[in-house]
Amino acid sequence: MSYAPLKRLTGRIAIVTASTDGIGFAIAQRLAQEGAKVIISSRKQNNVEKATKSLKNEGLDVRGLVCHVAKAEDRKKLFDEATKIGGLDILVSNAAVSTTVGGVLDCTEDHWDKIFDVNVKSSFLLAKEALPLLRKSKAGRIIFISSIAGFHPSEFLGAYSVSKTALLGLTKAAAVQLARENITVNSVAPGLIETKFAEPITSNEEVVKIAVPMIPMGRVGKPRDISGIVAYLASDDGSYVTGENMIIAGGMSSRL
Ligand code: NAP
Repeated sequence: MSYAPLKRLTGRIAIVTASTDGIGFAIAQRLAQEGAKVIISSRKQNNVEKATKSLKNEGLDVRGLVCHVAKAEDRKKLFDEATKIGGLDILVSNAAVSTTVGGVLDCTEDHWDKIFDVNVKSSFLLAKEALPLLRKSKAGRIIFISSIAGFHPSEFLGAYSVSKTALLGLTKAAAVQLARENITVNSVAPGLIETKFAEPITSNEEVVKIAVPMIPMGRVGKPRDISGIVAYLASDDGSYVTGENMIIAGGMSSRL
């Protein structure tokens, strides 16, 4: 499949968290291909350097920073950098962890706190901290990356699933609060996407045999399947869309 990205984001500035690999990397790449200046980040310096170099080699306008989303001083660096290069129009909160496997009520308090700190609290704080800059933008956008597991909990990723459901609520509540200010807030809920995060599923032939037939389109998604919808929401094409949780999952059905 080949396509030439539109140029809907020329002049916009974007922050994408957890963007040195997987879905975040594809989102950063796509926003930059559409003309945005993009700040990419993740926890490890070497990942940041490698991803920044790879995107710059494509001629894209990106810069990279180390940012563990649960660290206030790291998040501040992102917004300082955005201010330095002219402001902020688009925040994509993509980082998430799932530190334990099992049913929700088997999750220990420590794991629960870690999962909610990274997946929910950091998303809330990033959105809150981005607001002074987004309020100065003509087209402010907040996009949370949730999961199909937020709609239909995974039996094996119980606490993670609940954290992703919380993001759906955060999306709705923040969208209502910011609608009059012309800042849109949406979330994207991917299905099973081929990344390191999903490797325990996608690299296990036995599990693939069970998982793939549950996807009506009969294939695991690619990070690129997610980046296009994020670019749409970030662009003027998405300017009247707010408070929506978009499931991008090859036809897997779900509802809350
Ligand atoms: P991935 O391929 O494993 O990539 C993870 C990225 O996040 C890496 O760049 C990693 O770099 C960074 N990272 C991890 N923890 C971080 C933290 N605390 N702060 C900042 N960066 C961090 O994961 P993915 O599959 O693309 O997942 C991206 C998002 O999609 C997550 O929100 C996930 O829940 C969601 N999602 C994924 C799937 C799927 O099937 N893949 C399905 C539904 C939803 P460093 O190691 O350098 O930090």
